[in-house]
Amino acid sequence: MPNAWKTILLAITVVAIGFFFYPVSDSTTPGVNPKVVTDETSIDTAPTIALIDDQRINNAETEPGNWLAYGRTYEEQRFSPLEQINQQTVGKLGLAWFTDMRSNRALESTPIVVDDMMFVTSAWSRVYALDARTGREIWYYDPKVPGEWARKACCDVVNRGVAVYKGRVYVASLDGYLIALDAATGTEIWRKNTLIDRSRDYTITGAPRVARGKVFIGNGGAEFGVRGYVTAYDAVTGEQVWRFYTVPGDPAKPFEHPEMALAASTWKGGEWWKIGGGGTVWNSIVYDPDFNHLYLGVGNGSPWTRVIRSPGGGDNLFLSSIVALDADTGVMKWYYQTTPGDNWDYTAVQDMVLADMEVDGVDRKVLMQAPKNGFFYVLNRENGELLRAHKYVSANWATHVDMESGRPVEDPALGYLEDSKWVLPGAIGGHNWQAMSFDKRKGIMYIPAMENPLAYAMNDEWKNTGTYKHVVGGWNTGIEFGRIVQVMSEAGDPPKARGILKAFNPLTGKESWAVEQLHYWNGGVLATAGELVFQGNSLGEFNAFNADNGERLWSFNAYTAFLAPPISYKIDGVQYVAIQAGTGGGELFTGEVPHLASVKYGNFGKLLVFKLNGDIELPVPNVIDRTIPEQPEMLASEADVKRGERLYHENCGFCHGLMVRAGGVIPDLRLMPKAKHALFKQIVLDGILSVNGMASFSDLLNETDVDRIEAYVISRANEDRQAAE
Ligand code: CA
Repeated sequence: MPNAWKTILLAITVVAIGFFFYPVSDSTTPGVNPKVVTDETSIDTAPTIALIDDQRINNAETEPGNWLAYGRTYEEQRFSPLEQINQQTVGKLGLAWFTDMRSNRALESTPIVVDDMMFVTSAWSRVYALDARTGREIWYYDPKVPGEWARKACCDVVNRGVAVYKGRVYVASLDGYLIALDAATGTEIWRKNTLIDRSRDYTITGAPRVARGKVFIGNGGAEFGVRGYVTAYDAVTGEQVWRFYTVPGDPAKPFEHPEMALAASTWKGGEWWKIGGGGTVWNSIVYDPDFNHLYLGVGNGSPWTRVIRSPGGGDNLFLSSIVALDADTGVMKWYYQTTPGDNWDYTAVQDMVLADMEVDGVDRKVLMQAPKNGFFYVLNRENGELLRAHKYVSANWATHVDMESGRPVEDPALGYLEDSKWVLPGAIGGHNWQAMSFDKRKGIMYIPAMENPLAYAMNDEWKNTGTYKHVVGGWNTGIEFGRIVQVMSEAGDPPKARGILKAFNPLTGKESWAVEQLHYWNGGVLATAGELVFQGNSLGEFNAFNADNGERLWSFNAYTAFLAPPISYKIDGVQYVAIQAGTGGGELFTGEVPHLASVKYGNFGKLLVFKLNGDIELPVPNVIDRTIPEQPEMLASEADVKRGERLYHENCGFCHGLMVRAGGVIPDLRLMPKAKHALFKQIVLDGILSVNGMASFSDLLNETDVDRIEAYVISRANEDRQAAE
């Protein structure tokens, strides 16, 4: 198409899309226009249409100004070679533009920047195409995920981004569709259902990956009980090319592919296929052009507890594994299991980084991962050979990894079959999906690490009766969450929770430096050739650290907590750093921590873009009044409140917070006014707020249950109200 026609087409599209499809907002920042544009941009300078292919992504090192794929290149090192913003100039870094993402849920997206266009997603799998110089919206796409689907999401209605390839943008929606859009217009080209069973609790939050004419996508849902798999689709037609299951299905049925015979031999005695088995690939899928491999980061077991899932023992392949497939056929080349017989929700879905490095005097092509279990793995990516496995955080569940067998050596004293135990890392891991960044010149990985223990105890019902009932539509972990408050006290004094940004050497296991953070749940990381390490934190600060010693050189207060990873790009000689602000995601449970930006100011999602001498100012939000209002009269008995506590923590607490203290993202039920209490049953049973994601729980709870939950909420509100007086 001639450029003039592209321009006209874009102009028409901008007007049409902008007019008809302006989204309904979740929220807006008070007093803020949806977009702030720093300079007038005429249609003559409309961005060009993104046209990237394998060769361009393969040669991404020759295009340091772009961010062409999820981890910038196929290697996913997330290191920017740009150096205009550096240790000497970073003091002049300021806001160039920002957009209100019209969301108060977690934002986890990595923007893709191709030439002068940026493609970024928000909550509910919505896609924005923006002019990367100004933030001007080119098009917007809403896959219209039903609000009720939020109940199937363990970790909020998040999305981690798109893939851009040959003039198309690929996004996967929370409700399980893979969608191809025209990169120039946002028009839907095709939409494929990727779910094998739409009645099960599947969700997609991860970014698709694309290579060799195929789009690859997995899904999540292991907390509820699903069977994991990854599917490859033809990028042009959307036809399925292959599908690889990560755990075996019903043994009465034939194996879908030969690898399932190997996997099935490691599952013993249970009825895992009824629950699902787990092993969902909800985040990391990495393509390796050196071997035409596709690496899958496989998640935890479903349920979490091995004794319920596979009572006869066994490793339960391919849970918590890194699996290498032939990208063309989906045939397995090798696997490495980080946590055999996973018992803790120790996913290996964390981002995988590819590199060429010298190991023990030999040049190796390696794959690196810091999965939840606390060990940092360096594997030979040709054959899966284990090269290193150093602890990168405190981990008490295993003493070390035996380098001969490649297996972790568990500490039997930390087993929780009989008694509850504080285990490190807890279920959110020593590192979660928040991306790390690798500087290959220095051989240093910058890791957003966490030490947050969980009190693990076997489910009371299983302990008392030896049976476990899978509840469709509920959390099925096998862990005692209903009585979690008591379990925590039974487990004794917990290890300290902390967040640490670490400069870590994967070969020696040594830290060059570490920065302590007030809260553990922080953002992804970007290192740059300007010798800076960027990271946003839960206090709402976006920081730049000296890459050599961790000294903080620059900080920007966004008044909104961060989870997403930053990226950097360059257009017309100007380097930009972009990051989304907005927290939540997998850590809604711990709840109200006073210094969190989400608790202080709320959670108004934004995309922030910085450049040297940028001078846009963010409006300062008001501090939220968190005074607990007067509660309705307490009519319930002590026993009903106790029962309500259990029901609350089994059904409500994962989002609304431990002991009804929410973290500022999902509503804090202690703050409900009496008028809202009057609607409590309609909300919980009739689903009158389902459009927000609060679907009906009438399949799991009856009216008496809801009365008891409300009584517990009122009792917690009264306790905290009295304590505040
Ligand atoms: Ca999990």
